[in-house]
Amino acid sequence: MTLVEKKQTITFIDLAEQLSRNRPSIEEAISRVLNHGVFILGPEVSELEHRLAKFSDAKHCITCANGTDAISLLLMAKGIGPGDAVFVPSFTFAATAEVVAGRCATPIFVDSCYDSFNMDPVSLDRAIKKAKEIGLTPKAVIPVDLFGLPADYDAIEAIVDQYKLLLFCDSAQGFGAEYKGRKVGSIGHATTTSFFPAKPLGCYGDGGAIFTNDEEFASIIESLRVHGKGTDKYDNVRIGLNSRLDTIQAAILIEKLAIFSEEIESREKIAANYTNMLSSTFKVPHLPAGSRSVWAQYTLRVASDRRQNLTEYLKARGVPTSIYYPRPLHKQTAYQEFPTATENLPVSEKLANEVISLPMHPYLSLDSQYMVIEALHDWNFRIA
Ligand SMILES: *Cc1c(COP(=O)(O)O)cnc(C)c1O
Repeated sequence: MTLVEKKQTITFIDLAEQLSRNRPSIEEAISRVLNHGVFILGPEVSELEHRLAKFSDAKHCITCANGTDAISLLLMAKGIGPGDAVFVPSFTFAATAEVVAGRCATPIFVDSCYDSFNMDPVSLDRAIKKAKEIGLTPKAVIPVDLFGLPADYDAIEAIVDQYKLLLFCDSAQGFGAEYKGRKVGSIGHATTTSFFPAKPLGCYGDGGAIFTNDEEFASIIESLRVHGKGTDKYDNVRIGLNSRLDTIQAAILIEKLAIFSEEIESREKIAANYTNMLSSTFKVPHLPAGSRSVWAQYTLRVASDRRQNLTEYLKARGVPTSIYYPRPLHKQTAYQEFPTATENLPVSEKLANEVISLPMHPYLSLDSQYMVIEALHDWNFRIA
């Protein structure tokens, strides 16, 4: 990074800056694939899988077409379907619940914790009881590592063990994070992630991966991602998907993974600066002891009747922001008929009205960080 800010504009997520750093190595990686010509399941795919497994302390990594299919493949591998209940947060991206409904199982929405934005274990326990009351069979819990912060796994694992459920971690936003010394990817029965370009580790298209320590489960997923293939390619032993990661995307990811640890450290420094400079006046994200976030988003909570005003003020000051997520899933048209842990999910509803995410990417310069912080303080001074 240069000391002098080249651009005056602040970007919310800057992929161009990252590319300018490692463009030669990425172009070489793409040309190697063009030269060998194995575009589907080429050597880069298994090399990436080995590296990702090593990075996350998981025994097996299976890449696939995207982070949504990754979750779907887990449900398929365990035969989860009609009559089964799968517990998901309401305050998340739609994909987490979509795959459950897509398998004709029932997503049951669980509330979140106000401080962590993540699944509330107390609400999870209620949701499991609710599933039984309405005659469904509880099967799996899918906590989300929202905004890059691992969910409260100690508490969730205790519940999962008590009811003998499966734990599938949706870490589309949290790859690279850690929970009490455990890496994301090594927690639960399996973990999924996404390489959508704007995720902390992104490719230049769609991509996803599954991590597990269960060898038999890994081999079923490997079969499912190629139409449920058996040992003979033309003897399909189960109904699967076509969900492979392109070799070109794998080659790109190998180059990006090489600088990923450094990028996580940069994100941590930026988050620490934001927190140090903003915590006296704003509700900053809470980092629980023992957790390491990859800061997919840096998200403040502001009074709901002031959020619109803040968004507009920051925009006028050249500071882009985003609202993740303006509407919890249990309030969305496609999902409002599914059961919820309790009649209302008050925290999810409150968060949807209060959250605002600030610019966050590893290449956000100190000048830009100060511009963001100053604009926030100026706004606060005006409304105080
Ligand atoms: C992005 C995301 C997904 C889906 O990933 P895709 O690769 O876009 O399919 C799933 N869950 C969460 C929480 C996400 O943020």
